[in-house]
Amino acid sequence: MLRMSNQLSRHAIDFVDDEAIRDLLETRRLADVHAVRDIVAKSLEKVPLDVAEAAVLLHARTPELREEVFTAARQLKEQVYGNRIVLFAPLYVGNRCVNHCTYCGFRRENTEQLRRTLSTRELREQVVALERQGHKRLIVVFGEHPTYDAEFMASCIRNIYDVHAGHGEIRRVNVNAAPLDHAGFRTVKAAGIGTYQIFMETYDHRVYGDAHPRGPKSDYLWRLDGLSRAFEVGQDDIGIGALFGLADWRFDVLGLVSHAVFLKERYGCGPHTISFPRLRPASGSALDGRPLVSDDDLKLLVAVLRLAVPYTGLILTAREPADLRRELLAFGVSQIDAGSRIEIGGYTECGDAQQMNAEQFQLGDVRSLDEVILELSETGYVPSFCTACYRLGRTGEHFMEFAIPGFIKRFCTPNALSTFQEYLSDYASAATRAAGETQIEAELQALPEGALKERLVSRLHAIQTTDERDLYF
Ligand code: SAM
Ligand code: SF4
Repeated sequence: MLRMSNQLSRHAIDFVDDEAIRDLLETRRLADVHAVRDIVAKSLEKVPLDVAEAAVLLHARTPELREEVFTAARQLKEQVYGNRIVLFAPLYVGNRCVNHCTYCGFRRENTEQLRRTLSTRELREQVVALERQGHKRLIVVFGEHPTYDAEFMASCIRNIYDVHAGHGEIRRVNVNAAPLDHAGFRTVKAAGIGTYQIFMETYDHRVYGDAHPRGPKSDYLWRLDGLSRAFEVGQDDIGIGALFGLADWRFDVLGLVSHAVFLKERYGCGPHTISFPRLRPASGSALDGRPLVSDDDLKLLVAVLRLAVPYTGLILTAREPADLRRELLAFGVSQIDAGSRIEIGGYTECGDAQQMNAEQFQLGDVRSLDEVILELSETGYVPSFCTACYRLGRTGEHFMEFAIPGFIKRFCTPNALSTFQEYLSDYASAATRAAGETQIEAELQALPEGALKERLVSRLHAIQTTDERDLYF
């Protein structure tokens, strides 16, 4: 490729050993019940698993053993995250792209795709529309193109933070884009981003090569090393992911765990989030012949990730249909998007939700944010728009120190409730407001009496009766 090797991170290495991963998937084929139980017990102590241990869990094939893994994942999620679900929306800024990813509607030679980049005015209009829905957290998405350099991304991010519609504001902008060099990561960090996400798509070298035949993304090591470069300039809030359906899903679960272990060993801190999108039909790209992941396997995949990386957020997107999302929440998902539109300009230009030539792929769950929040409230979850940790500098290694159950209960639950109250007061439909306030009341009942609860109750009251907003612990 054209890049210079000195643009890689210090001592950059390709730590993914395909043979070793395949060996783990072969040799441990018959999961030993006792081994599974020992590993599950370790995980319930909130000790991250190594790659070999995660492999053993992936071989839990019998329904009984799978159920044990699911039960443990539910229990761990409840202990670490409680019943909070963080909500966000994607914002697609531009779909020009120099890559040739065989599965993506944005790939360079796809002439069916309408190409577009939001102007500053259009970007701000999208943000106003998102704020009017009640969103506070965005993931901003870019194709890979010379016009979408770090300066351009930084200017989009500054514009987004600058838009205030009524009580609305975006308090955290995450980014999903191509890997940058060190200077690029410095530039986007200075603009105040939250998480920088780069999905490896697949860790399997052969499949990676086939799916990315040309363009900058064909360089496996440049992509794998991307988040190491981010760490080296202090952007320690990072997200990894794999696109499931390209290669053997179990291989990519172990790829993700290897990546998390590598980052933790090298930089003292693992990823903040893991995403596990499943391949969707896209314009000009068929799914035929791909090793797609069944719904049942997706459940095991989520449960094993939950157990392997107890303190890493798991993100489930609206690529999946509503009923499956409902089920997967219990196994360990901590963040979902809602009310999402993935065509460029989609939040103001309401077209057909399935406009294949304008969006990157088809969505599975097209419910509004309000509908999703109503359902979460009625099923015992607390929707959260909290952004306190990153704004108080509690990220990366520092965040890991704080990520203990006591901390979550003392800070995360109250912050979730006050951001939920903001949503209910400012944006909710009557039905959602009623269900949400009942849910907040139930959460308050469960909180121990004391100074913290008193402060929280007075904050909730202030949000209901005044213009005070953005109150967090
Ligand atoms: N262009 C940047 C890149 O590729 O890293 C970031 C944006 S890309 C639009 C975001 C992610 O969308 C990709 O990393 C890939 O995992 C996912 N994606 C692409 N095509 C998809 C499809 N057909 N179904 C589901 N997800 C897809
Ligand atoms: Fe471009 Fe990203 Fe789509 Fe690949 S996945 S074609 S890099 S937008």
